[in-house]
Amino acid sequence: MGQGRHTPAANPDGTSYPVIRVSLAALVTIYLLLFLAAVFLLWIVGEWNRRRRERRALQHRLRCVICAFQFEDRTDALLPRCPRCGSLNERFKMDQI
Ligand SMILES: [Zn+2]
Repeated sequence: MGQGRHTPAANPDGTSYPVIRVSLAALVTIYLLLFLAAVFLLWIVGEWNRRRRERRALQHRLRCVICAFQFEDRTDALLPRCPRCGSLNERFKMDQI
């Protein structure tokens, strides 16, 4: 009967802190960055869409050469008819609005 108890080597004073604090900060930072990137991407896409829609709307915008009436024409007619005076107009690119 030599040694009676053999306590397992469990350290009650366990000072083995995991590095969860650093990784949590990193996770928060990554999350924030991803969030910002997503918002930025959405903003860019929205702006691009809006600009494209504006340009397309401008493409269909015409001004009558007779009465200077501005109207939209979304048909494929080569000579769209002015709804005000009924004259035929050529398509041209409008630089100013
Ligand atoms: Zn006209």
